[in-house]
Amino acid sequence: MVWEPWTGCYKVSDGCTNCYYYGPYSKRCGQNEIVKTDDFYKPIETIYMPRKKITKYKMESGKTVNTCFTTDFFISEADEWRIEAWNIIKQRPDLHFFFITKRIDRFPISLPNDWGDGYDNVTIGCTVEHQEIADYRLPLFLSYPIKHRILACGPLLGDINLTPYLHGIEYVSTGGESGRDARECDFNWILNIREQCKNAGVPFEFRSTGSLLRKDDVITKINPKMQHRIASDLNINII
Ligand code: SF4
Repeated sequence: MVWEPWTGCYKVSDGCTNCYYYGPYSKRCGQNEIVKTDDFYKPIETIYMPRKKITKYKMESGKTVNTCFTTDFFISEADEWRIEAWNIIKQRPDLHFFFITKRIDRFPISLPNDWGDGYDNVTIGCTVEHQEIADYRLPLFLSYPIKHRILACGPLLGDINLTPYLHGIEYVSTGGESGRDARECDFNWILNIREQCKNAGVPFEFRSTGSLLRKDDVITKINPKMQHRIASDLNINII
Protein backbone atom coordinates (compact mmCIF):
# COMPACT_ATOMS: atom_id res chain seq x y z
CA MET A 1 0.00 0.00 0.00
CA VAL A 2 1.20 3.48 -0.85
CA TRP A 3 0.49 6.86 0.70
CA GLU A 4 1.84 10.03 -0.89
CA PRO A 5 0.43 12.88 1.22
CA TRP A 6 2.64 15.32 -0.68
CA THR A 7 4.90 15.09 -3.66
CA GLY A 8 7.92 16.89 -5.08
CA CYS A 9 11.49 16.89 -3.85
CA TYR A 10 14.96 18.24 -4.56
CA LYS A 11 18.55 17.21 -4.05
CA VAL A 12 19.85 17.07 -0.50
CA SER A 13 22.98 14.91 -0.83
CA ASP A 14 25.14 12.97 -3.31
CA GLY A 15 22.69 10.06 -3.38
CA CYS A 16 20.08 12.34 -5.00
CA THR A 17 22.11 13.19 -8.13
CA ASN A 18 20.33 10.68 -10.35
CA CYS A 19 17.13 10.52 -8.32
CA TYR A 20 14.66 8.05 -9.77
CA TYR A 21 11.88 10.64 -9.48
CA TYR A 22 13.51 14.03 -9.96
CA GLY A 23 16.90 13.28 -11.55
CA PRO A 24 17.90 14.45 -15.02
CA TYR A 25 16.35 11.48 -16.85
CA SER A 26 13.22 10.99 -14.79
CA LYS A 27 9.69 11.76 -15.93
CA ARG A 28 9.30 14.20 -13.04
CA CYS A 29 12.55 16.06 -13.66
CA GLY A 30 11.93 19.70 -12.84
CA GLN A 31 8.85 19.01 -10.71
CA ASN A 32 10.59 20.14 -7.59
CA GLU A 33 7.67 22.07 -6.16
CA ILE A 34 6.33 20.43 -3.02
CA VAL A 35 2.55 20.07 -3.20
CA LYS A 36 -0.05 18.43 -1.04
CA THR A 37 -1.82 15.66 -2.93
CA ASP A 38 -5.46 14.60 -3.16
CA ASP A 39 -4.41 11.48 -1.25
CA PHE A 40 -3.53 13.40 1.89
CA TYR A 41 -6.34 11.82 3.92
CA LYS A 42 -6.16 8.41 2.23
CA PRO A 43 -5.43 6.34 5.38
CA ILE A 44 -8.55 7.65 7.11
CA GLU A 45 -10.88 7.67 4.12
CA THR A 46 -13.87 5.43 4.65
CA ILE A 47 -16.33 3.61 2.45
CA TYR A 48 -19.92 2.65 3.24
CA MET A 49 -20.87 -0.98 2.58
CA PRO A 50 -24.65 -0.86 1.99
CA ARG A 51 -25.16 -4.63 2.20
CA LYS A 52 -23.41 -4.97 5.54
CA LYS A 53 -24.54 -1.53 6.60
CA ILE A 54 -21.12 -0.71 7.92
CA THR A 55 -18.55 1.98 7.25
CA LYS A 56 -14.97 0.85 7.00
CA TYR A 57 -11.60 2.27 6.13
CA LYS A 58 -10.61 2.05 2.49
CA MET A 59 -7.09 1.06 3.55
CA GLU A 60 -7.35 -2.46 4.81
CA SER A 61 -6.19 -3.13 8.36
CA GLY A 62 -2.90 -4.93 9.00
CA LYS A 63 -1.02 -3.61 5.95
CA THR A 64 2.29 -1.79 5.63
CA VAL A 65 1.87 1.66 4.11
CA ASN A 66 4.87 2.83 2.10
CA THR A 67 4.80 6.54 2.79
CA CYS A 68 6.40 9.44 0.91
CA PHE A 69 8.30 7.30 -1.57
CA THR A 70 8.14 10.14 -4.15
CA THR A 71 9.22 12.83 -1.75
CA ASP A 72 10.75 13.06 1.72
CA PHE A 73 8.60 12.89 4.86
CA PHE A 74 10.87 15.44 6.55
CA ILE A 75 11.20 17.95 3.71
CA SER A 76 10.94 21.46 5.15
CA GLU A 77 8.14 22.60 2.80
CA ALA A 78 5.84 20.03 4.46
CA ASP A 79 6.44 21.13 8.05
CA GLU A 80 2.89 22.42 8.49
CA TRP A 81 1.27 19.43 6.80
CA ARG A 82 3.37 16.92 8.73
CA ILE A 83 1.63 17.72 12.01
CA GLU A 84 -1.65 16.60 10.47
CA ALA A 85 0.04 13.63 8.81
CA TRP A 86 1.26 12.42 12.21
CA ASN A 87 -2.30 12.74 13.47
CA ILE A 88 -3.55 10.58 10.59
CA ILE A 89 -0.86 7.99 11.37
CA LYS A 90 -1.96 7.98 15.00
CA GLN A 91 -5.57 7.35 14.01
CA ARG A 92 -4.56 4.13 12.25
CA PRO A 93 -2.66 2.00 14.81
CA ASP A 94 -3.84 -1.03 12.79
CA LEU A 95 -1.59 0.01 9.86
CA HIS A 96 2.20 0.15 9.83
CA PHE A 97 3.67 3.26 8.22
CA PHE A 98 7.11 2.99 6.65
CA PHE A 99 9.20 5.77 5.18
CA ILE A 100 12.84 6.34 4.35
CA THR A 101 14.47 9.73 4.56
CA LYS A 102 17.57 11.61 3.54
CA ARG A 103 16.61 14.38 5.94
CA ILE A 104 16.75 12.61 9.29
CA ASP A 105 18.41 15.72 10.75
CA ARG A 106 14.96 17.36 10.50
CA PHE A 107 13.32 14.64 12.61
CA PRO A 108 12.87 16.78 15.75
CA ILE A 109 10.95 19.41 13.79
CA SER A 110 7.15 19.19 14.06
CA LEU A 111 7.08 15.95 16.00
CA PRO A 112 3.69 15.35 17.60
CA ASN A 113 3.44 16.24 21.29
CA ASP A 114 2.65 12.67 22.28
CA TRP A 115 5.47 11.06 20.27
CA GLY A 116 7.28 9.94 23.46
CA ASP A 117 9.51 6.99 22.57
CA GLY A 118 7.91 6.82 19.15
CA TYR A 119 4.75 5.38 17.69
CA ASP A 120 4.55 1.59 17.55
CA ASN A 121 3.15 1.72 14.01
CA VAL A 122 6.00 3.70 12.41
CA THR A 123 9.27 2.44 10.93
CA ILE A 124 11.78 5.05 9.82
CA GLY A 125 14.60 4.23 7.45
CA CYS A 126 17.66 6.45 7.28
CA THR A 127 19.37 6.52 3.89
CA VAL A 128 23.16 6.65 3.60
CA GLU A 129 25.26 6.50 0.46
CA HIS A 130 28.86 6.86 1.64
CA GLN A 131 30.90 7.14 4.82
CA GLU A 132 30.73 10.92 5.18
CA ILE A 133 26.93 10.87 5.10
CA ALA A 134 26.80 7.83 7.41
CA ASP A 135 28.99 9.62 9.96
CA TYR A 136 26.74 12.67 9.82
CA ARG A 137 23.27 11.10 9.72
CA LEU A 138 23.57 7.95 11.77
CA PRO A 139 24.63 9.37 15.15
CA LEU A 140 21.60 11.67 14.87
CA PHE A 141 19.34 8.84 13.74
CA LEU A 142 20.38 6.67 16.68
CA SER A 143 19.94 9.50 19.16
CA TYR A 144 16.26 10.07 18.32
CA PRO A 145 13.39 8.19 19.98
CA ILE A 146 12.14 5.85 17.26
CA LYS A 147 10.52 2.47 17.92
CA HIS A 148 11.46 0.82 14.63
CA ARG A 149 14.45 1.85 12.55
CA ILE A 150 16.22 0.47 9.52
CA LEU A 151 19.14 1.56 7.34
CA ALA A 152 18.85 1.93 3.59
CA CYS A 153 22.31 2.01 2.02
CA GLY A 154 21.54 3.17 -1.46
CA PRO A 155 22.46 4.19 -3.91
CA LEU A 156 25.68 2.84 -2.45
CA LEU A 157 28.52 5.08 -3.65
CA GLY A 158 31.41 3.86 -1.53
CA ASP A 159 32.66 1.48 1.10
CA ILE A 160 30.97 2.17 4.45
CA ASN A 161 31.86 1.09 7.97
CA LEU A 162 28.49 0.81 9.69
CA THR A 163 29.75 -1.12 12.69
CA PRO A 164 29.38 1.76 15.18
CA TYR A 165 25.80 2.33 14.05
CA LEU A 166 24.12 -1.06 13.95
CA HIS A 167 22.72 -1.29 17.47
CA GLY A 168 18.96 -1.09 17.49
CA ILE A 169 18.71 -1.40 13.70
CA GLU A 170 16.06 -3.91 12.57
CA TYR A 171 17.62 -4.56 9.18
CA VAL A 172 19.95 -3.07 6.58
CA SER A 173 19.14 -2.94 2.89
CA THR A 174 21.74 -2.21 0.21
CA GLY A 175 21.65 -1.46 -3.48
CA GLY A 176 23.38 0.22 -6.38
CA GLU A 177 22.24 3.15 -8.46
CA SER A 178 19.92 2.83 -11.43
CA GLY A 179 19.69 4.96 -14.53
CA ARG A 180 21.59 6.23 -17.54
CA ASP A 181 24.30 8.02 -15.57
CA ALA A 182 24.41 5.49 -12.75
CA ARG A 183 27.60 5.38 -10.75
CA GLU A 184 29.13 1.97 -10.29
CA CYS A 185 28.49 -0.16 -7.24
CA ASP A 186 31.32 -2.41 -6.10
CA PHE A 187 30.11 -5.80 -4.92
CA ASN A 188 32.86 -5.75 -2.28
CA TRP A 189 31.14 -2.75 -0.63
CA ILE A 190 27.98 -4.83 -0.42
CA LEU A 191 29.84 -7.82 1.01
CA ASN A 192 31.58 -5.61 3.58
CA ILE A 193 28.24 -4.32 4.86
CA ARG A 194 26.93 -7.87 4.87
CA GLU A 195 29.86 -8.95 7.05
CA GLN A 196 29.27 -6.07 9.46
CA CYS A 197 25.58 -7.01 9.72
CA LYS A 198 26.46 -10.66 10.25
CA ASN A 199 28.81 -9.77 13.10
CA ALA A 200 26.20 -7.52 14.69
CA GLY A 201 23.36 -10.02 14.25
CA VAL A 202 21.40 -7.62 12.05
CA PRO A 203 19.39 -8.91 9.06
CA PHE A 204 20.79 -7.83 5.70
CA GLU A 205 19.35 -7.51 2.22
CA PHE A 206 20.96 -6.91 -1.16
CA ARG A 207 17.96 -5.33 -2.90
CA SER A 208 19.31 -4.28 -6.26
CA THR A 209 22.53 -4.41 -8.21
CA GLY A 210 21.96 -1.00 -9.77
CA SER A 211 22.86 -0.39 -13.41
CA LEU A 212 26.64 -0.82 -13.09
CA LEU A 213 27.92 -3.59 -10.86
CA ARG A 214 31.62 -4.17 -10.34
CA LYS A 215 32.24 -7.76 -9.35
CA ASP A 216 35.52 -9.67 -9.54
CA ASP A 217 36.97 -6.57 -11.22
CA VAL A 218 34.51 -6.79 -14.09
CA ILE A 219 31.93 -4.03 -14.53
CA THR A 220 28.61 -5.28 -15.84
CA LYS A 221 25.82 -3.08 -17.18
CA ILE A 222 22.52 -4.45 -15.92
CA ASN A 223 19.06 -3.88 -17.36
CA PRO A 224 16.71 -2.20 -14.87
CA LYS A 225 14.31 -5.16 -15.12
CA MET A 226 17.03 -7.54 -13.96
CA GLN A 227 18.58 -5.56 -11.12
CA HIS A 228 16.41 -6.97 -8.32
CA ARG A 229 16.47 -10.49 -9.74
CA ILE A 230 20.26 -10.64 -10.06
CA ALA A 231 20.73 -9.25 -6.53
CA SER A 232 18.34 -11.87 -5.21
CA ASP A 233 19.99 -14.68 -7.20
CA LEU A 234 23.33 -13.86 -5.60
CA ASN A 235 21.70 -15.27 -2.48
CA ILE A 236 23.59 -13.26 0.10
CA ASN A 237 20.68 -11.99 2.16
CA ILE A 238 20.73 -12.68 5.88
CA ILE A 239 17.26 -13.04 7.34
S1 SF4 B 1 15.57 12.88 -1.14
FE1 SF4 B 1 14.92 11.11 -2.35
S2 SF4 B 1 13.17 11.83 -3.58
FE2 SF4 B 1 14.27 13.64 -2.82
S3 SF4 B 1 15.68 14.20 -4.48
FE3 SF4 B 1 16.78 12.90 -3.01
S4 SF4 B 1 16.59 10.82 -3.84
FE4 SF4 B 1 15.01 12.09 -4.82
